[in-house]
Amino acid sequence: MDAPVLKQREKLAGHIIKQLGKRKMAGSFVPTAAEAKAEVLRVLGLIEGPLSVIRCGSESVGNLGLWADIAAQPGVTLMDPYAPGLSKEEGAELRRQGLLADVLVASSNAITMDGRLVNLDGTGNRVAGMIFGPRKVILVVGMNKVAADVESAKDRVRTFAAPANNMRLGEAYGLKNPCLEDGRCHQCMSETRICNVWSIIEGSAVKDRIHVVLVGEDLGY
Ligand code: SF4
Repeated sequence: MDAPVLKQREKLAGHIIKQLGKRKMAGSFVPTAAEAKAEVLRVLGLIEGPLSVIRCGSESVGNLGLWADIAAQPGVTLMDPYAPGLSKEEGAELRRQGLLADVLVASSNAITMDGRLVNLDGTGNRVAGMIFGPRKVILVVGMNKVAADVESAKDRVRTFAAPANNMRLGEAYGLKNPCLEDGRCHQCMSETRICNVWSIIEGSAVKDRIHVVLVGEDLGY
C-alpha cells in the first residue's frame, strides 16, 4: 500500500479507536491483513476458555484464512454453519445455537468516523449476535469500510457491499435479485433478497464486549 495512504489510515484509525472507547467498545489497528490474523488470535487468547466460537459469513475474515486457525486454538470449538456436508436445516440450527456461543467473529459492513457500526444482514443472525448473546464480539474491519457518518455508511452498504455480496453468494444460493444483472441496488422486494435487517450499534452496555480490529489494507467489502 502507498505509504502516505497507510499513514493516513493509521492516524484515522487512532481517532476511531478513541471514539470506540467513548462508546465502551475496544479497538486496535494493524497495517496488514496478515497482522490482522495474529491480532484476532491475540484478542481471542485473552479470554478464559474453554470457548465456543460462532463463524459468521464474512468475506473479510474468510480472506484472512482465519477460521482454520481459530479452530486449531487449544480449548476452542468452532461452530461452523458452513462446514461441508451440513444440510440447510443443520446450518440454520447451528446459527441459532451460535447466538449463545462464547465468542462471535465477523466483520462490519461499515464503521463511521465517530465509531458507530453499520450493518445489513440477510438472515439477521450476525447482527443479532453482535448485539446480544456472545460474551465477546471480535470484528475485523478494513479501513476501506470507514464512512464519514451513518448516512454515508448506509449508502456505502446499499450501493456497494450489498450488490457485491449478491455477486459472491448468487450462484451458491440461487439468488435471483436485480442487482445481479446490473450491479446496482434496486431496493428490491425479490423473493431471494439478502438485505433484510439493518443495525446501527451506537455503543456497548458491557465495556469492551465488542473489539474492532481495524486493518490498514483493504479487506472484504
Ligand atoms: S435490496 Fe435487492 S437489489 Fe438491493 S442489493 Fe439487496 S438484493 Fe440486491
